[in-house]
Amino acid sequence: MRYFIITYGCQMNKSDSERLSSFLKDNGLSVASSIKEADLILVNICSVRQKAVDRAEAKIKEIKKLKKTICLTGCLLDKDRKRFEKIVDFIFKIKDVSDLHKVIKKKKKIIPDYFKIKPDQSNFIPIMTGCNNFCTYCVVPYTRGREISRKPEEIIKEAEYLIKKGAKIIWLLGQNVNSYEHNFPELLKKVYQLPGKFWLQFISSHPKDFSEELIKAMKRCRINYLNLPVQSGDDEILKKMNRPYNIKSYKEKIKKIKKEIPGIALSTDIIVGFPGEKRKHFENTKKLFKEIGYDMAYINKYSPREGTEANLLKDTVSPKEKKKRERELTAILAETALKNNKKYLGKTIEVLVIEKNIAVTKSNKKIKINPSEIGHFKKIKVTKACSWGLSSL
Ligand code: SF4
Repeated sequence: MRYFIITYGCQMNKSDSERLSSFLKDNGLSVASSIKEADLILVNICSVRQKAVDRAEAKIKEIKKLKKTICLTGCLLDKDRKRFEKIVDFIFKIKDVSDLHKVIKKKKKIIPDYFKIKPDQSNFIPIMTGCNNFCTYCVVPYTRGREISRKPEEIIKEAEYLIKKGAKIIWLLGQNVNSYEHNFPELLKKVYQLPGKFWLQFISSHPKDFSEELIKAMKRCRINYLNLPVQSGDDEILKKMNRPYNIKSYKEKIKKIKKEIPGIALSTDIIVGFPGEKRKHFENTKKLFKEIGYDMAYINKYSPREGTEANLLKDTVSPKEKKKRERELTAILAETALKNNKKYLGKTIEVLVIEKNIAVTKSNKKIKINPSEIGHFKKIKVTKACSWGLSSL
């Protein structure tokens, strides 16, 4: 039996799909190179944006015409569940992956150990799932439930195994790693101390509980990239989003991080056009962008999601204006990222080859390289810099 996985959404979903794939392979299935060739189609859905749900539904209807068995998993609101129940064969929660046996008709009962993952150059290890924060625009606490942290011993064992098998970057993954219940800075240090040559990264953090202890642990573990989602540069909008910090405290944290880890690459997540976001609020976001000088930003135009608190607010910003704000922020980002990337010019740095002609830096930047062996670290000299990457050619 051959399977094909279609993944929508965030890194957590991508990580779950990788694990799902390993699990299926361990149970005798093989991966198909296309939907057409597969017997079983797994759709790992994301409900964060209505658009993603609609896209998944359209895709499933298209696959249905090919008379395939379709299973659905991922972030799913109850109201969407009803809608999908009519068009797929089976819906399962990712943590109940062993239920898939009902579909793959295996008698052997398997209790997956958050199902095993096959090593790659870059491996994501979920350290926790769910979220307790209830940002007003977000469905994650409803679809993934409350925070559940995995035990440190389990995570360390998994990291150790992956490094031994050749993983070169270990990403510790959670919706909000800072609220990991067994001390996240300690976990970072323990993973960092594992033998073997690898880089350590993590994603994602909430600014409200980003501690000094964590900054120190990052420095000790030589982490040179941080995603710290600010979502808006305006205190009034942050309040409406139920993000319990203000821009002053966010900037202070960034200042400390930059002082402790000079040259750190910073990225953020932003929502433009949140209900009630006026030009004056948006100008504060632009100001923040210029002040921080991000290396990367994931800029999203607000779209209402049923089931969230923000859905009760009037969507006041027109699609045209949202697009305009997105463009304005992207233009600032292009300038700040270019300025940061130019600092690499002429320097010889260590990179990890991820594709024949592409490598990644420890600061999570892509760099063009001469054809090289995938999965190897190498030293290269940076000769060109643009906003969205580097080159050594
Ligand atoms: S912190 Fe907020 S945005 Fe992130 S997953 Fe939790 S509720 Fe959603």
